Amino acid sequence: MKDMLLKGMLCDATVNFYAISAPEMAESVRRLHGTSPVCTAALGRTLMAASMMGAMMKIEEGEVSLIVKGGGPAGNIVCVGRADGSVKGYITNPQVDLPPRESDGKLDVSGAVGKNGTLTVINDLGMKEPYIGQSDLVSGEIAEDVASHFLTSQQQPSAVFLGVHLNAQGVTSACGLILQPMPNCPDPILDLLESRLYAVKEMPDLLAGGMELKEVIDWMLSDTEPQYTMELTPVFRCDCSRERLEQVLISLGEKELSDMADQQHGAEMTCHFCNQVYRFDEEELRALALRAEQAKTTRGEMDDGE
Ligand code: ZN
Repeated sequence: MKDMLLKGMLCDATVNFYAISAPEMAESVRRLHGTSPVCTAALGRTLMAASMMGAMMKIEEGEVSLIVKGGGPAGNIVCVGRADGSVKGYITNPQVDLPPRESDGKLDVSGAVGKNGTLTVINDLGMKEPYIGQSDLVSGEIAEDVASHFLTSQQQPSAVFLGVHLNAQGVTSACGLILQPMPNCPDPILDLLESRLYAVKEMPDLLAGGMELKEVIDWMLSDTEPQYTMELTPVFRCDCSRERLEQVLISLGEKELSDMADQQHGAEMTCHFCNQVYRFDEEELRALALRAEQAKTTRGEMDDGE
């Protein structure tokens, strides 16, 4: 069973849907970040939301960032989704673990994430200013928080489902579904959708049992005539590079870089998203300090010209 993201329409194109099954992506993130079960679920859910929201973008080089700040012990979650369905993300304290919830024995995602805070969504379409929406967290369970974002920031009613299941070995299923009725969607169709939502609870088990995502959608939403318009692969991919981090260092300025070279004789930077470590020795820092100085001069000249 390979990871997959499907985009399509229901009920004569009156409803858009996004469906994802990404157990391999979630498992690779669990191994990469060493996440506890509850943090695997929290990060996995947010990554799947980012993947589906990335797929909503109509611009190839667009990026959507989700920042969850709930005030819980696991800290913040930062995830980025791209138009091709690929993602990157991290959680501040990946090893924080909590006992299962007493009420239903499920992973206590809201306990780890916290629910007193915000979800910030940054839609970067490659233009000058990104579009930023911020909404209060509803539950800290991620799916409801994402649904609330769509409603408050985009006036788009949505049904959002996200689930990550684990056993002692790792992730057994990771899947999600977003349903978004168009403004002209007739009431009987909304009622029909609502009546089918109970079936969504079966989604993780059906996928874990070996059913293909398309088969699951066709079964769950059988009387809504799903039409598929796009298939993507929701893989975890970091896009950090030495060049990118050089730019970050240059932005610190000549003085800061010279001080680092003098006092620490080098610098070490770790990418939060993939844990790759980049080292810069004293000589490299001095070269970057020079570039920072040159960049400043060039900028100064441009300012003078205005
Ligand atoms: Zn990276």
